[in-house]
Amino acid sequence: MRPAWLPVALLAATVVACSRDSAPPAAPAGGATAHTVAANSRVAESLPLGDLQAFEDARRGFIASDSPVRIPGPDGRVAWDLEPYSFIQGEAPATVNPSLWRQAQLDGQHGLFEVVPGIWQVRGYDLSNMTLIEGRTGWIVVDPLTVAETAAAALALARRHLGDKPVSAVIFTHSHVDHFGGVDGVLPPGAAPVPVVAPAGFLEEATSENVLAGVAMGRRALYMYGSSLPRSATGHVDAGLGKGVPSGSIGIREPTVIVDRTPQPMEIDGVRFVFQNAPRSEAPASLTLYLPDLKAWGSADLVPHTLHNLYTLRGTKVRDALEWSGHLDRALELFGDVEVMFGGHQWPTWGNARVLDHVRAHRDAYRYIHDQTLRLANQGYTPREIAEQLELPSALRTRFGTRDYYGTVRHNAKAVYQAYFGWYDANPANLDPLPPAEAGARYVAAMGGAGKVLALAQAAHDEGDDRWAATLLDHLVFAEPANAPAKELLARVYEQLGYQAESGPWRDVYLTGALELRSGVQGSAVDPRRALGLLRGTPVERFLDSMTVRIDGPAADGKRFKFNFVFTDVGETHVLELENAVLHHRRAGPAADADATVRLTRELLLRLGIGDAGLKDLVMSDELEVEGSRLKLLSFLSLLDRPDGRFPIVTP
Ligand SMILES: [Zn+2]
Repeated sequence: MRPAWLPVALLAATVVACSRDSAPPAAPAGGATAHTVAANSRVAESLPLGDLQAFEDARRGFIASDSPVRIPGPDGRVAWDLEPYSFIQGEAPATVNPSLWRQAQLDGQHGLFEVVPGIWQVRGYDLSNMTLIEGRTGWIVVDPLTVAETAAAALALARRHLGDKPVSAVIFTHSHVDHFGGVDGVLPPGAAPVPVVAPAGFLEEATSENVLAGVAMGRRALYMYGSSLPRSATGHVDAGLGKGVPSGSIGIREPTVIVDRTPQPMEIDGVRFVFQNAPRSEAPASLTLYLPDLKAWGSADLVPHTLHNLYTLRGTKVRDALEWSGHLDRALELFGDVEVMFGGHQWPTWGNARVLDHVRAHRDAYRYIHDQTLRLANQGYTPREIAEQLELPSALRTRFGTRDYYGTVRHNAKAVYQAYFGWYDANPANLDPLPPAEAGARYVAAMGGAGKVLALAQAAHDEGDDRWAATLLDHLVFAEPANAPAKELLARVYEQLGYQAESGPWRDVYLTGALELRSGVQGSAVDPRRALGLLRGTPVERFLDSMTVRIDGPAADGKRFKFNFVFTDVGETHVLELENAVLHHRRAGPAADADATVRLTRELLLRLGIGDAGLKDLVMSDELEVEGSRLKLLSFLSLLDRPDGRFPIVTP
């Protein structure tokens, strides 16, 4: 595959994960140290692990499942497979935080479940849930999973046990790909149109969210979801929000009905709904839905059985804790007679008192993190200092539903700081410090050389002070990337930090770091062809936006170009202009002073973008028509950077 300049990491992890179909390289993962064993025992003692309410809820209403759950993907690969997780049973091994182990067991429950008569869910067939609501003529599908393959398998399971009804409507709860990407699996392209309901701003957010930063986000997502790790007691066990991310075909559908206010009553296929528009919460465009006749609330991703992310480790803009908390407060007011709550991930909660209690806990967790971060910042504390001391009040931290399985209090507190103050903590020493490799070399020299740093790090590790050992060794590895003993010790240190982590993403981040220190960069270039369906639903402007951040600034310095791009299939002309090493584009009539006018199709631009066609070949071919200077067009296109998405992270 040619390097693609279109960064289609809309769920980069999904696409990257497909590189893991073959066995991961053998990495000599170590066991737990005595310090890790002790740390994990303290966790087990501090939590009511004997409380089985969540297990009852996760199994309640079970109808059937496939055995095994192994869903084929495109190109003979596997889209989704629960078999590798079958080791997750019984007591937690020493190498897994027992609280995460409990969550991993819960997230492993799978199949078709009745929520209440009239509402069913397929869970454990993807990272997310598919909810089916019985309409007068067919199924109203809420959130058709991440990829078409898992969505089709989930719907087939439901049809086998509940009857072969058509899909009469689709509701996208929000703009994250795990809630719309599988739409082609429930509404095959070419099928008769049905209402598609989505929150205001859905299409813009869904097609733009990761477009500009997608390549880096894809690489980082590989760490966050542990896509290259083996599924094992020393590898990936759970994502905290579900088992992991599937790989397969991603599509999108343009909404026909928009939810843009609260409350917004609506009848869909004979079923009464009351919608809540909940933007800038877990997703920039989001809704929740209430079925007043069933007293059932679909809370989308606002209230899962974990603390969610105000900041996501794959790298996203930070989310608004106040808005999120505020939407939950409004939901409590609007839907206070609720008897059951079901969400986009994990299992439902039944009973008015339990649902309200759960929602209040989430409302207050985000609010507490927000308020206390600002209280401490106003006393002069900086992000690391705030994260170190902030913990939820006792009533919230002892309940499983708001614990750190996906988001964590620590990284969410830093997100709140970031939202208000940005990256700079106001300490002049942190205004312009040396970059990692330069700083590392000086730290190592100041400490008396590599041997001394290694000895200090070993001593820290032996004492269980692994966070400090990681800092020491990180300086050494960045100063001396070929230092094998330093890399191996840092891998062992990251392993222990991973084994102790309660958060699935934290565990995966540490263990992926260890794996790459031993075996080099994992994964392969993102294959954007899996997202063709989604890209076909993406406006031309978005593609051109992605071009602007590919311009190699130094190479473009002093160059000036102007082109008319005429997209003959969609009847749009865009003027592209490069000056001051910046590319601007606007939809306009053709400029008379352009260097060239290029006639092409949107589909061709898309193929260029995903690497199915090479830029230079095409300029010289007759697949696009150029009126004016082909040479200038070629010089312009040669300024586009083509990152391969395989940059190192734990080494310089
Ligand atoms: Zn989700």
